[in-house]
This record gives sequence, structure tokens and C-alpha cells, in this order.
Amino acid sequence: MNTAPFAEVAVNAGHPARAAFTYAVPEGMAVAAGQAVFVPFGQRILQGVVLSLTGESTVPGTRPISAVASDAPVLSETHAALVRWMSDYYLAPLWECVATCLPPGYGQKPVTMVSPVEVPPLLPVDPRDHKILAYIAAHGRVPLDELQEAVGGITRARLQRLQDAGHLSVAEGLLRPSARAKLQRRLGLSRSGEDALARAAELEVGAPRSVAARVLRLLAADGDAPLAAAREAGATPHHIQALVEEGWVKEYTARVERHPLAGRIFPPKPAPRLTAEQELAVQAIAAKPGVYLLHGVTGSGKTEVYMELVERALAAGKGAIVLVPEISLTPQAVRRYGERFGNTLAVVHSALGIGERFDQWEAIRNGDLHLVVGSRSALFAPVPELGLVVIDEEHEWTYKQVDPAPRYHARETARELCRLAGATLVLGSATPDVVTYHDSERGVIGRVELESRVAPGVDGDAGVGQMPTIAVVDMREELKSGNRSVFSFALRRAIRGALAAGEQSILFVNRRGAARFLLCRDCGYVPQCPSCEIVMGLDEHARATPQLRCHHCGRSRRLEEHCPRCHGPRYRPFGVGTQRIETFARQEFPGARVARWDSDVAGRKGSHERMVEALEAREIDILVGTQMLAKGLDLPQMMVVGVVDADVGLSLPDYHAHERSFQLLSQVAGRAGRRDRPGTVIIQTYEPEAAPIQCAAASDFRAFYEHEIAHRRRAGYPPFTRLVRLIYQHRNHEHGLEEASRVATDLRTRRDAAGRAEPDILGPSLAFIPRIRGRTRWQLLLRGRNPVTLLAPTTLGEGWSIDVDPASLL
Ligand code: ADP
Ligand code: ZN
Repeated sequence: MNTAPFAEVAVNAGHPARAAFTYAVPEGMAVAAGQAVFVPFGQRILQGVVLSLTGESTVPGTRPISAVASDAPVLSETHAALVRWMSDYYLAPLWECVATCLPPGYGQKPVTMVSPVEVPPLLPVDPRDHKILAYIAAHGRVPLDELQEAVGGITRARLQRLQDAGHLSVAEGLLRPSARAKLQRRLGLSRSGEDALARAAELEVGAPRSVAARVLRLLAADGDAPLAAAREAGATPHHIQALVEEGWVKEYTARVERHPLAGRIFPPKPAPRLTAEQELAVQAIAAKPGVYLLHGVTGSGKTEVYMELVERALAAGKGAIVLVPEISLTPQAVRRYGERFGNTLAVVHSALGIGERFDQWEAIRNGDLHLVVGSRSALFAPVPELGLVVIDEEHEWTYKQVDPAPRYHARETARELCRLAGATLVLGSATPDVVTYHDSERGVIGRVELESRVAPGVDGDAGVGQMPTIAVVDMREELKSGNRSVFSFALRRAIRGALAAGEQSILFVNRRGAARFLLCRDCGYVPQCPSCEIVMGLDEHARATPQLRCHHCGRSRRLEEHCPRCHGPRYRPFGVGTQRIETFARQEFPGARVARWDSDVAGRKGSHERMVEALEAREIDILVGTQMLAKGLDLPQMMVVGVVDADVGLSLPDYHAHERSFQLLSQVAGRAGRRDRPGTVIIQTYEPEAAPIQCAAASDFRAFYEHEIAHRRRAGYPPFTRLVRLIYQHRNHEHGLEEASRVATDLRTRRDAAGRAEPDILGPSLAFIPRIRGRTRWQLLLRGRNPVTLLAPTTLGEGWSIDVDPASLL
């Protein structure tokens, strides 16, 4: 405990403050960093968390902290520092950053409560006042929101007037936390109860013999049982009271652990002997704390390396966090960690119930569970003595939170967390993020390579499939030879073969297939913005005739009738959705059982399990789906994978387009085939010479990296610059544009006034997804070495969102 007179407090005020507020620590109150408190804020008392203590205040007339909310700190010192870093780095509201680290459901929203008074004076004449009073007379103390919904049109002034006249009372309060420890009434068997059970004859006391005997026998099994179980066994409260009075049974309240792994027993599995390459990797990483890229193809044994590092961390008395993308789709990952670390494993992801997450949080903080496996948010688990963080498939963009703020990336945040905690960070991938790999090239982080796949059958069962044959089909040639179908000859042949052999196929369709761009079927030309080097989209929002427009800088261009490069006539919009491919597949392969799996279908609960079951039961011959398939499914029977429209991925107006395409195609390539027989992958494209396609087909990451980093350097994209994306959403198209233009002008003026040449301020332009829920989205892009500094002092108004280092510009 500190006796410093002032505390810096993050306040849950419901507005996007980035600063902490200074409060005085009242004499006699013991307050420590990380502790939850209540503080006065305007007229209200709000929840806050102390981030640090100081000897002096920079603001005059600080108000005192009202009360301490919890004795034990809810944030560690490391996390208190981490949330400040997040708020600064991502320009995110401080409280939202604090909330990511708090126990689930802990944040308490402020509410206004309206209560009836005991003896109301004469009823008011105003009919609306009348309704308000009638409502609270019937319902008692209610939140203002509820009253507003029931009666409507209630202003603060009206409430104030009614309160002043003594008709009701208004109070500011906090909503109850939505999660807390679950408590349960239980019965335990006492020593004399055990004796009584042995001397069965005595079991007559106050209850029919059979009931008493049944309850005691129930308790004897585990020593105790929930009260509810005894009631189910036929015991009435009266029976139970009699047993308690006799001294045979104790009644008490106990905490129930809600554990997501409850009931799932993992048979322990010993660690395999590491290969020489794996052993070297472990030694290199364990040699000293730091950040390491573990680059190794799928099946090279990265997970075994992670597990060995976890083992070492635990043995040294430290805790570890392993992040995996899409954990709810990858039960295999949880199983592997469960088999090795079952008794100290916590599983954390957003699909868990809030109660389960709360209990896990407590168990982790109390040091009962030392290994946390989970998705993005598991990074904030309160692991004491953190020694290791692993981010598997570190290139996955699910590690970036898109909405709501803080829009953090787990990779960058983990770097800061590990720096603060003195822990090691391991970033693993077969296709690392270009920026991560660049860091390893510059020596900013370490790099360890696993170059070979683990040989089949080393431990008797762990065979590794052969790489599939990958064919790239030039769709321009198909056209020339008269094939106008969306399926190439090669793809049709492969699928027919699979159908004849009773095997399954996948047709991959790009998720953003509905987004339209122009493509010349004769030469493969796709129009690009000369200054942004991204694909120009077809702008159907333009007034008279459709135009080409750059999604970054807004530059527009007349739409040519013929291809500007080869002057061919087949220069037309491109992109087909999953539904149309499904229809084409039914026509092309009559009799085949075709199913579709995209975000429409996958959003439904349990759909993933049903899909996997249907595939395993061989009820589906051809599965049409988006790239979600590449992650969630591990299907040994899938012999043919066709990428229908590789060009769509390449042609997205985002500088990540090539990188994502390469990653996706590499991942897809790993999906086809069985252990005993390689599968077939067919990539259809109008641009077969494109680097992502060539390099993925050749499984050559290094070549792809060289190509891509040269492009990034030339066009001025990360890692050579940093980006900040601002989005303004508004119902009114014109108003939105005005506001976005105003901010753009403001920022340009400020930049020029500071004599700075950068950042570039691109836009406003319509975002790639121009409207969401009836709101038009206007985008500004800031690009430079440190665009955040231009923005940091600005507070953008309502409707704006800030995304620092956006993982997607779509
Ligand atoms: P990655 O994470 O790189 O995809 P994994 O760790 O999943 O690779 O390894 C692929 C397969 O090889 C798994 O079935 C794993 O159990 C097995 N394996 C990995 N290392 C070894 C080893 N040293 N001895 C035996 N089997 C291994
Ligand atoms: Zn442009």
C-alpha cells in the first residue's frame, strides 16, 4: 500500500477519454495501483481502476476517491502499464483498454434510477407526468431507460421538476456486474453421519428411514453433494433439517467452478522425442528472453516446439499463454494441449459463457491454472509471472480486433506485454506476415526455421501427408479454346474423377466475390490507381454513368469500353458469389450432392458441427465455400480443391491483397489429399504470372517475400510507412462527406502548419463497404512514418472510428 496522496484513475464514464483522471486519496484509505474504486464524476459516482499513484496533482481542486471497490487489485502492475500503452498506441479510450483486462462482466455501466416516493403529494395534471408516476407506482424503482421506453419523451428537466415537487426521486447508480462467482448450497457428511450409515438401524430420526439412508448414501459417495441433488432424491427441507439437527449432515455454501473443460478428460500423452531440428529451435528460443519468429511449413512440428517451451516455462515456475486463431473451430488444438497439460490448462475464448470466463479468470489470477490457450482476448488473461506467449499462425488477421475499440493487434500488444513482463514471445507461421518477416530480416526479432516436415511414423501414428499437386490454370486460354464456363476443363475433369471414385471436392470462392472490379478476359488486365498501386473498383454510386474509382484516394476515371492494354472487347466486371457457383456446380455435375458453406450459413449456431458431420458421413460430394473453409476444416477425404476465382483475392483494393492471396492459396494447398495419396489443387486465374500464385504453387515463401517487400517499399506501404484509417459513418451521404472533408482539411492544415511533409492524407473516399446498416462510411487514410502523432491531440467527434495499423482496408 502506498501513502501517495493522489491517484491516476481510469474512469468508466461511457465517453472516449484517453486520459486518466486525478483523484485525491482520502486520509486513512489504503489504495494500490490496479485496485478498483468508485469515484465522483460530475453528478455521478462511477467505477474506476487506479493505474498509478503520484505524490502531486497537476490539476487544482482534485476530488477524493469515494470508496475502494475491491481489496485485491483487479489489474497487475504490468497490465496497468499495458493498458496505458494500448490507449496511446491505438488512440483508444482508456477505459475500453482497461476493460479488456478486467474479469469478464466486471465493467459496471452507470444508470439513472427513478423511484416512487412513499406518500406522493397531489397528482400532477400533465398527462405525461401522470403516466410516469403511474408506471413507477406499479413497477417500483426502475432504470430511466425502461421508463423512457414505456412512457417516452422524458427529459432531464421534466424529471428534475417532478423530483423538486416531491413526486419521485432520481439517483445515479451502477448496474450490477453481469458475472460473479456462482455459489451453491451443499450438504456434507459428518463423521457421525458416516457412523450412522454404518449402523443403518439408527436411521429413523425424524425422517422415514429410507429417505435418510438415501441421502447419507448419496453424500457418502463423494463426501458431499449439492442440496438440489438431495432434494431430487426425495428429501424435503424437513428431512434435511432433521439430519442436520442430528449432527449427521452439514449444510454450507460453496463456490462452484464453471470450467469449459469440465467433463472432458484428456488421456495424458507423453511428449514425443523432438527431432534434431526441433531441439535446436527450442534451444535457440530458450537461450534468452526475446521475440522470435518460428518459421516452419505446416507439419514441421511447430506445435511440439511450443509445447516444449511451455513445459520449460512451467517448470521454471512461470505461466504461459498460447493464442490460436479461431479456437472454436479448432478443437484439435485444445485437445493437444489438454493431453499434455490437462491439469493446469485454462481455455479462454469469446464463445464461452460469461460465468465460465469469470471462473477461469479467477483461477488464472490465483495461480491455479498456469497455461492459457485461447483466441485473441486470452492475451489479457491475468497470468502471474508470465514467462511465455506463443502466437500460432501469427499472420492471421483475426488477431486484429476490428470493432469495437481498442482496435488492437494481439501481435504488437503481446510484444509490449512481453517487454513489460520480461517474457519470451514466439510468433509461429508457415507463411509469416511480411512485416514480421521483415523485422526478422533486420534482426529486430530473432528467427528460427524448421525446414523439413516431421517424417511419417516417427511415433507410430503421426504420419504427414504428401504435398498435393498444384496446377495453375490460365483462364484466358480456356476462353480462347471456347470454354465459357466458370469451371476450367482441368477442374471439371478432376471433380468428375473424384465423383466417380466416391471422393469429395471443395470449390473455393472469394468471400468478397460480390465486390466488382474490371477484368479483361483476353489479357488479364485489371485497372489500377497510379498513385496508390491498388485496384480501382467499379463505382456504381457515381451519378450518371459508372466510373472507376480508387478506394484509397478517391481518384476516379472514365470507364473505357475496350481494354486499355490489349484493346480487346471482353473488358467486363468480374466476381461471382458462392450462390451462383453453387448453382453452376449443380448444373455442371448433375446428381452430385452440392452444399454451400459461407458466412450466411456459418453464422447459424451449430452449423459448423453439422457441416463436418455431413462431410464425414459422406452426405456431401462437393462443398462450395469461402476461405473460412481453409481454417476450420481438417478433412482427410478431400481429394480435389478448386480455387474458382483466384483473381478476386489478388484484385482487392487493399495493399494486403497479394499477401492474403499467397497465404490463402498456401493454406488451401495443404487441405487436399490423404496420407497415402496426394490430392489435387487447381487454381484458376486470368493472371497466372502473378507472384502470389506462382509462389504458392511452388511453396516458396522466400520468393514471395522478396517480391512483396520490393512492392511495399516502392509504393510506400508498411513496414516502410504506418497507416491510420479513420472512418466516419452517417445516415446522410452528403453530411458524411462534409464532415469527412472538414476533418481532412483540418488535418492537412495542422500538418502544414507544423512544417511536416507527412503523413499523406488520402481521401475522403467511400469505404470499400460503402454502407453498413443504413449509414454511409467515409474513409480517410493517413500514411507516413508516424501518422499517430498528427492525430494524437485530436478528439474526433461521435461517428468517427480510428484504426491504427489496420489489418484490412476493405
Ligand atoms: P505444425 O504445428 O508445424 O503444423 P505439428 O506440431 O502439428 O506441426 O506436427 C505435425 C505432426 O507431426 C503432428 O501429428 C505431431 O504430433 C507430429 N510430430 C511433430 N513433432 C514430432 C516428433 N518430434 N516426433 C513425433 N511426431 C511429431
Ligand atoms: Zn488511388
